[in-house]
Amino acid sequence: MKSWAIERGATHFTHWFQPLTGLTAEKHDSFIDFDSKYRILENFDGLKLIQQEPDASSFPSGGIRSTFEARGYTAWDTSSPAFIIGDTLCIPTIFVSYTGEALDYKTPLLKAIKALDKAAVKVANMFDKSIKRIFITLGWEQEFFLIDEALFLARPDLVLTGRTLMGHSSAKDQQLNDHYFGAIPERVKRFLRHLELEALKLGIPIKTRHNEVAPSQFEIAPIFEELNIAVDHNQLIMAMMQEIAKIHRFRVLLHEKPFKGVNGSGKHNNWSLMTDTGINLLSPCKKHKRNLMFLTFLVNIIKTVYDNQDLIRASVMSPGNAHRLGSHEAPPAIISVFVGKYLTNVLNKLERWDKIKEDTTNHSLQLDITNIPEILLDNTDRNRTSPFAFTGNRFEFRAVGSSMNCASPMIALNTALAAQLTQFKENVDALITKGKNKEKAIIEVLNKYIKHSKPILFEGNNYSEEWKKEATKRGLTNVTNVPEALQSYLKPETIKLFEETGVLTKKELTARYYILMENYILNSQIEARVLGDLAINHIIPVAIKYQNYLLDNVMKMKQLFPNELNELVGNRIEIIKEISLRINNIKQLVNEMVEKRKIVNKIEDIAEKAIKYSSDVVSYFDKIRYNIDKLELIVDNTMWPLPKYRELLFLK
Ligand code: ADP
Ligand code: MG
Repeated sequence: MKSWAIERGATHFTHWFQPLTGLTAEKHDSFIDFDSKYRILENFDGLKLIQQEPDASSFPSGGIRSTFEARGYTAWDTSSPAFIIGDTLCIPTIFVSYTGEALDYKTPLLKAIKALDKAAVKVANMFDKSIKRIFITLGWEQEFFLIDEALFLARPDLVLTGRTLMGHSSAKDQQLNDHYFGAIPERVKRFLRHLELEALKLGIPIKTRHNEVAPSQFEIAPIFEELNIAVDHNQLIMAMMQEIAKIHRFRVLLHEKPFKGVNGSGKHNNWSLMTDTGINLLSPCKKHKRNLMFLTFLVNIIKTVYDNQDLIRASVMSPGNAHRLGSHEAPPAIISVFVGKYLTNVLNKLERWDKIKEDTTNHSLQLDITNIPEILLDNTDRNRTSPFAFTGNRFEFRAVGSSMNCASPMIALNTALAAQLTQFKENVDALITKGKNKEKAIIEVLNKYIKHSKPILFEGNNYSEEWKKEATKRGLTNVTNVPEALQSYLKPETIKLFEETGVLTKKELTARYYILMENYILNSQIEARVLGDLAINHIIPVAIKYQNYLLDNVMKMKQLFPNELNELVGNRIEIIKEISLRINNIKQLVNEMVEKRKIVNKIEDIAEKAIKYSSDVVSYFDKIRYNIDKLELIVDNTMWPLPKYRELLFLK
């Protein structure tokens, strides 16, 4: 590996890992070493490849690694290929504490992959004994905004928080839908081509690129890969995008909601299971037996989503993504599953199966499963509003945030499915022991499952108000608040799930929960500070300056036209008054917010503090912003201190 890397110009190596900050971390060492006579050697031994001990005391650990035990280990993940970036050989690794607890995303992801492989092979073997291994496949679609670098740097809110905390909508944004799938601007194309080339060098097969719904929003997607590699490649791409964008004088915004009033960014996770014999388990086929296997996995996934809706939501909840989930764009915070017209019919039949009187020996014929068309792609008329949609040969989980590590939802989904498949096997085996024939036993269990999970199936418009009411009636949960959603990580059934599958211990899960809560608090605190600062030292001074300018004008008019004053300057006096009103509102709201923040900061309990941040501090953001955005409309454009939406969002 050393010669391979040095041949390609590498002088350094690093263990590359994914701590819970959501970013990737590296610590570079050069290959340089001295021999006993102090001559320079190029050295890289096996131990350095396999294990490192980075000083990692400032990575979030949720209390697992107290400061006196600050050591953490990185250890080689042999299932993901090492790669070279610039002059550095990067070795994908896991990151664990001295006592072995996971401090990263990769460790539990690898365990979830193993757990699902084991459980899924057992179920697949009920249909096909030749299957020895099952791979999980992931194809992510990465959405992002591209902003001109100079304008980006002139917005302290973008620089410090990744999103605009103020800004009136542009007169024109996405209403004409003229950006979506439109021609990609030349300058953007040059950036994308550069990115694709660099990606290809690392073996990341980017296939798709197009404009997204919002102006200046784009998407790239690779061909799907094995889950662990796909996650690494997404982490890599997110880092590379930022670097390559700078060369083109752009900045990439990976934030889920950088602009109010236009669509935010997500990262659809296309997810399926593939056998070592080359079968996609979520792809129907002409053969009868294969289709019963397809139906088995389909129904088990539906039940998994139904039984774990709160965990699945928690796995994609973040301060940024909370702006998308539950607002009228992209998927709502209510988790539901879409399967399309054709499969809805099949599932309806499966649900009524135990009521069908006539008994033929071929149990599945009654379900017509032999007739499921091989290519369902055209039958699943794509419901774009569903958070969890079957799209012909895979599920597409659409609630994932654009900046997130895909491992987070993938750990939750695959662990939950592993437990579900184990339960399925037990349920079927119990019936077989009672003397039922295998196929009948399988169908009987699926029949029970579909009856149980039916409330999660929804084919209609997920954005509508009726769906919210209907979902409540069905008993589905709808949580849009970050701290509240995260609490499901500590529910007894979640702890049981992760412990039984061996993916995370209670201690590790608790640590993760605290890290996420803490992250919410810090994020809210930073946003509150930036918003307060900009309001007081950018916006109010400029508003006063413009107001003085108007006042000066009115005074001079008074001297010149003392008798006609009201007719001539009445409207200016209105503007002067409105500016005073807005300034007063802003000042008062910022003062209140700061006072609230001081109180909340004193709360010791992390969960309570996060909840209070949401209800007492974050709740001020929109009110303050509203007054600033009103000022933006009346203050002299040449004085306004921040680039406006119409300037930021339209790349030329
Ligand atoms: P759309 O935007 O229409 O949903 P895209 O073509 O942009 O579709 O992205 C679809 C993604 O799904 C691609 O990354 C593709 O490789 C991936 N995909 C296709 N089949 C599978 C599969 N069996 N497992 C996982 N991902 C898949
Ligand atoms: Mg998609």
